[in-house]
Amino acid sequence: MAMSVNENLSLDPSFIANGLRFECQGSGKCCSSRGEYGFVYLTRFDRQRLAKHLNISTASFTKKYCAKHNGIWHLRSDVEKPDCQFLQKKQCGIYEARPTQCRTWPFWPEILNAKSWSKEVTGFCPGVGKGKKWTAEEIQKIADEDQQNTRQFGT
Ligand code: SF4
Repeated sequence: MAMSVNENLSLDPSFIANGLRFECQGSGKCCSSRGEYGFVYLTRFDRQRLAKHLNISTASFTKKYCAKHNGIWHLRSDVEKPDCQFLQKKQCGIYEARPTQCRTWPFWPEILNAKSWSKEVTGFCPGVGKGKKWTAEEIQKIADEDQQNTRQFGT
């Protein structure tokens, strides 16, 4: 998920207290890099799941599709082509097995506060404010899952 976030900010419980409306509009925008932070980071579990989905070994998947940045695996990206290599006609080509970071968007702890939400999400993601209203409990659960995933980076 190609985002630039301010890691100093964190989840503000009052920001999610009344829930947030979000439904993916299939714009593919979040699957396109917006610069140096545009990485889809992968844990060992992500790489194993994706390799299984593509019916290849984890080592082959890692060699073919991944690169490392600061010791963390991510989907290999090309500065010339900002789109994720699995994005096909604005659709994720590996949707069922997509990385956890892609599943938890936009309920990442570091953007669940008024400042980051407005700076990083609302003007960028057309799914914000649309469709299903997620409760604070649901959002918290996804944010926890994202945080747990982040802890596995580097494995
Ligand atoms: S893996 Fe799929 S959902 Fe994630 S950035 Fe790539 S195309 Fe988008």
